Amino acid sequence: MSVLTIKDLHKSFGSNEVLKGIDLKVGEGDVVALIGASGSGKSTLLRCVNRLEAPTSGGVTFRGDPVTPENVNAIRRQIGMVFQRFNLFPHLTALGNITLAPRKVLKRSEEEVAAEGRALLKQVKLEAKEEAYPGELSGGQQQRVAIARALALKPAIMLFDEPTSALDPELVGEVLEVMRDLAKSGMTMIVATHEIAFARDVATRVLFLDNGLILEDGPPEQVLVNPREPRTREFLARVL
Ligand code: ADP
Ligand code: MG
Repeated sequence: MSVLTIKDLHKSFGSNEVLKGIDLKVGEGDVVALIGASGSGKSTLLRCVNRLEAPTSGGVTFRGDPVTPENVNAIRRQIGMVFQRFNLFPHLTALGNITLAPRKVLKRSEEEVAAEGRALLKQVKLEAKEEAYPGELSGGQQQRVAIARALALKPAIMLFDEPTSALDPELVGEVLEVMRDLAKSGMTMIVATHEIAFARDVATRVLFLDNGLILEDGPPEQVLVNPREPRTREFLARVL
C-alpha cells in the first residue's frame, strides 16, 4: 500500500486556482523532490497533505484512509513537517523542543522521551547542544533541531518545505547532510526544494510542478538531465 495517495486535488484561493488536479502516489521509502518556480504551488500541495489547507476538491489518503477533518489530528502525528522557518519554541532547550510533543501528545514518560530525544540529537549531529536554547543556535543548528522534533513522533513520512531557503549559504550543507542520512535510512520523504544537486543525488523521484500541475514525474536522471518538457528545461536553466 502507498503511504500517501493524492487524487485529482484542486485548491483555489478565491478565484486563484493554485492546484489544478494533482495525482500522486508516494510509496514506502520514496524520496520525492518537488521542484518548480516560486508560486507554482509547492507549499500549498504540502499543506493540503495534512490539511493545513483544506483542498477545494479531490483528496488525500494516508495508508488507505481518506484524510478528513475528523481524523486529521491522528494522521498529522504520523506526518512530520519541517518548514523554511524553524519555529522552535524559544523558551525550551533543544532537548525540550524535541520531547514536548511525545510528552504532551503521547503522554509518555519524561525519562523515556529524554533518552529518545538524545538519540535524535545525535542523529542530527547536535548531541553537545541538548541544553542550548534556540537563540544560542545557528540557523542550521535550529533547523536540525526542528528535524529531530518532527522525527520524535516517529512519523511514517516527512514533508520538507524549502528547509534550507532561509539559511546562510554556509549552513545549507549541514542540513542537507542530515536529510541525506535520513533518506538513506529509508524514511519516506517529500522535499520541496531549489537544491537541484540534492534532488539529483538523493531523490528517487523528481516532480516538476508548473502552474498547479505536475508536468514531469520521473527519476532524477530523466527529469533533471533529460527533461521531456520545454518548460522544465527553461526552469532548470534558470536555477542551475
Ligand atoms: P510555492 O511554494 O511553489 O512558492 P505556494 O503554494 O506558496 O507556491 O503559492 C502558490 C500560489 O498560491 C501563489 O500565487 C500564492 O500567492 C497563493 N497562495 C498561497 N497561500 C495562500 C493563501 N493562504 N491565501 C491566498 N493565496 C495563497
Ligand atoms: Mg513555498
